[in-house]
Amino acid sequence: MFFEPKTKAATRRYLIERANGCCEYCMSPQSYSEAYFAVEHILPKAFDGKDDIDNLAFSCLGCNWHKAIKITAIDPESNEKVPLYNPREQKWTAHFQWSDDFSEIIGLSPIGRATILALKMNREFLRNQRSAFAKLKVHPPKHSLPTI
Ligand SMILES: [Zn+2]
Repeated sequence: MFFEPKTKAATRRYLIERANGCCEYCMSPQSYSEAYFAVEHILPKAFDGKDDIDNLAFSCLGCNWHKAIKITAIDPESNEKVPLYNPREQKWTAHFQWSDDFSEIIGLSPIGRATILALKMNREFLRNQRSAFAKLKVHPPKHSLPTI
């Protein structure tokens, strides 16, 4: 790691910039939310997860709340327990893609499918917001699209 933020405020600024201002799970933009997004522990503190920036993710309150202390979930296709998506170790586009109208996230892998269900990443509010934002051409975020 090349950068070690010295304060909580500096850490938060770093996380927001690293996440392009979006929840690292559902890709909701912080700039269109009244609530401040959370600093999420990928390995929860309950499992001795550290405050190191390599264990932190920028997360909307819904994803943070639904993830809670989960580290695994069931893939609905195989019924097998798999690890949740880890935004520090994995690429979002390797596990998720948008539906044709950009309102829903589709799981591309067991990890993607399990994480969508566990974090309820297609909550009604998010689907409605994505549909409206897509019409305004402020969704989806560029970094959530596959690179050509
Ligand atoms: Zn989210």
